[in-house]
Amino acid sequence: MSRLEVDLGRIRANVEALRARIAPAEYLFVVKDDAYGHGLERVVAAVRDAGISWFGAVDVPTALRARTAAGPQPRILAWSTTTAARVAEAIAADVDLGVGDADHLETVAAVSGDRRARVHLKIDTGLHRSGVRPEDWNRFVARAAELEASGAVDVVGVWSHIAETSDADDDASHAVFGEAVAAARAAGLRPDVQHLAASAAAYARPEFRHDLVRFGAFGYGIRSADGPDLHGIAPAATLLAPVVRLDDDVATIALGALDGLPSILAGRVAVGTPGGARMLRSVGPVESAVDAWPGASVGDEVAVFGPGALGESSATALAEAIDTVGEEILVRVSPLIPREFVG
Ligand SMILES: *Cc1c(COP(=O)(O)O)cnc(C)c1O
Repeated sequence: MSRLEVDLGRIRANVEALRARIAPAEYLFVVKDDAYGHGLERVVAAVRDAGISWFGAVDVPTALRARTAAGPQPRILAWSTTTAARVAEAIAADVDLGVGDADHLETVAAVSGDRRARVHLKIDTGLHRSGVRPEDWNRFVARAAELEASGAVDVVGVWSHIAETSDADDDASHAVFGEAVAAARAAGLRPDVQHLAASAAAYARPEFRHDLVRFGAFGYGIRSADGPDLHGIAPAATLLAPVVRLDDDVATIALGALDGLPSILAGRVAVGTPGGARMLRSVGPVESAVDAWPGASVGDEVAVFGPGALGESSATALAEAIDTVGEEILVRVSPLIPREFVG
């Protein structure tokens, strides 16, 4: 049976290394997409025990799963613009809400009644995916201050997301962010937490860390495509598939495109075998072919990606071979492939 082995101890060690690097900023652990395919519940419990006190989800259902797994103590932030019903569920579960849209702010305020929803106001600093545009920001923070005075919301944070495509773009975003925080204060708001950066920018640039860093990929040991190796960080997930057949110089493994292995990886990457690194020759719907090794037998396990113990490539190396990012390789692994937890 093929399986995704997830080393929770490795995730905790990654968290420790990243925390040490960003201190005194705090670590918000991003768990979107079922914890980047690793399995949300077990990952959340493991890193909570390692002292993580902030979690981040895109959507409210994921935030609610994180709340159930983490217990009442940690702060959980959900940031998608969503319906009043979802907002009500989030507030009832004590989830902080990222708000990057004036209408959504009204929805949150209307739903919260007297519960003072905790909100983090989002400025669009140039990525143009979401967030309030700089030209609309002053009006937005003025309205937020009114709603705060009325008791509907507590503005606890100001935040943005940066592109991480070039230092110059990120510097420009950082400047816009600084002005947005100043404008929020001028409007009478007192946001406790400012946060801007995800993995790559926060790792490289201390001035982007502010109070909180939203780490996704790096916590799982997924380095950036074409990025540097990371000190003290290694992949936590290994995708393993058994050999089901041997013909001459080919070992066939029970894993294919329907399990989430991109078929265009064929001929481009090495996988790990008991005999070391071997070329992935072809990817079929449910099986794939690998160059055999001396002494290969049916039942041997092949590592399709992982930290490298059997000579396999990392998920990011696979991604680089087909011009995508490492988290894409992870989140494509079918939910039908069982996650097995070690560590
Ligand atoms: C996914 C996401 C992150 C984490 O990004 P990584 O590059 O995986 O660290 C941070 N912030 C937001 C808003 C995100 O959507």
